[in-house]
Amino acid sequence: MADHVVVIGLGRFGESVALELMATGADVLGIDIGEDPVARMNARLTHAVQADATREEVLRQLGVDEAEYVVVAIGDSIEASLLTSSLVLSFGVPQLWAKAVSDAHGRILEQIGVHHVVHPEREIGRRVAHLLRARLQDYIELGGGYALVRTTPPAAVIGRPIREIHVRRNFGVTVIASKGSDGDWKDVTGDTVLADGDEILLTGPIAKAERFHLK
Ligand code: ADP
Repeated sequence: MADHVVVIGLGRFGESVALELMATGADVLGIDIGEDPVARMNARLTHAVQADATREEVLRQLGVDEAEYVVVAIGDSIEASLLTSSLVLSFGVPQLWAKAVSDAHGRILEQIGVHHVVHPEREIGRRVAHLLRARLQDYIELGGGYALVRTTPPAAVIGRPIREIHVRRNFGVTVIASKGSDGDWKDVTGDTVLADGDEILLTGPIAKAERFHLK
């Protein structure tokens, strides 16, 4: 569990990462070069510090060299993002996440060894395209051509125990959970009988997973 996290860059992305980490009970040190973001986040994070993260001595003073989890969420200056990421990597921090604002930026972050490179705008843009086109409630690409989809069950699987329908063989997807009128998610077993109005969570190859609800 990541209980102590340093978030560098408190723009919209850094702010939402930091606040969500706080909401889940983590300690968050937020660092930003700007006065306004630090003032805005001051009372909402464990610590918020105004500092230039491209300066090694500053990062050391703040204990970033001892951190286990660091998020570099600087997007307005690619140079500052790369300098900061490279310093954090030189400290041997085991888990560095960095936000990329372009494909080229992401490639360089990967080349210097950042452990997790995220492209928030590209990822959300792609997700919206799939949600909109296939009319899904949720869609997460898992890599390797697979997706996790939240949708409604198609007529073909309603009213009979899942085991009798051979969903995997006939439709190439695996239904993993369902939510009925009681509003709780439950694991789907062979005995589960899906009803009209349920929601389901399924995985499978992208094309099959996003078209399953139309069967
Ligand atoms: P978003 O697109 O997520 O709103 P930006 O990428 O524009 O955010 O925001 C980046 C944040 O990183 C800004 O708040 C900016 O002040 C901060 N930042 C930029 N350079 C540095 C730096 N050298 N050290 C610390 N923070 C920085």
